[in-house]
Amino acid sequence: MELISSILDTKFPIKKYDEKECEKCDHIYTLYETPRGIIGACKHCIDQQLINELNVTTKEEREKRKERKFIAAFERVTEDLQEATIESYEPIEKSQIKAKKIATEYVASFDGIHSLIFSGNCGLGKSHLSFAITKALRQKGYKTLYIKVTDLFDHIKNTYKPDSKINDLQIFKMINGLDLLVLDDIGSEYVKANEYGHESWASDVLYKIFDMRLNKSIICSTNYSESMLTEKYGNNGQRIIDRMMDLSTAIRIEGESYRRKERF
Ligand SMILES: [Zn+2]
Repeated sequence: MELISSILDTKFPIKKYDEKECEKCDHIYTLYETPRGIIGACKHCIDQQLINELNVTTKEEREKRKERKFIAAFERVTEDLQEATIESYEPIEKSQIKAKKIATEYVASFDGIHSLIFSGNCGLGKSHLSFAITKALRQKGYKTLYIKVTDLFDHIKNTYKPDSKINDLQIFKMINGLDLLVLDDIGSEYVKANEYGHESWASDVLYKIFDMRLNKSIICSTNYSESMLTEKYGNNGQRIIDRMMDLSTAIRIEGESYRRKERF
């Protein structure tokens, strides 16, 4: 009885012919002898070609990258914050433990609608947690921006200069399009008193931002209390606070300075 393999051999006369080193990548591949001639190709190179084809950026992807680059240009983070993660936040006091828990849950259940307010004295890790959330959500693919309010105001003011390459509308559009805006250190910006004792420009801009991000996530951090901020922003004060509080969880962080234990 004829062996099946020999029948197959007759029907499909494909024989191993030789081995060849790929000229492109030096991998060894097999050549086969067939009725149509010698065939064979480097599997490694074919796989690579497929990967490259899949990586060809679509117009949409290029736009996305451009947008992310535009956002990133506004982010300035101090060196001590660069490596901050939620995990690396070491709570001591009860309110810090709570803040860490809320931050963790916020990232896990992020919906693009709910907001957070971290308040409390300097050095308790408000910026740490705020930036850590920004990073964590960015890694999940969300468009996020962490920015100090003072920096944001500077960026907007810079667009009024004649040599500015961008205008303020582009900044507001960018802010509007974020999945999460993190405004660090609200209230720390310089406020020039007008005739009523309040600077209207800064509070107008802040209100505009909160208003355009109604039902869109914002994280605010501030050293100020609710009443102090209300007072600071004058006529816009109550409106700004109302917007800040909208769909927001507020956590007052208390305790010894978080940074203090790291000094010297
Ligand atoms: Zn190859």
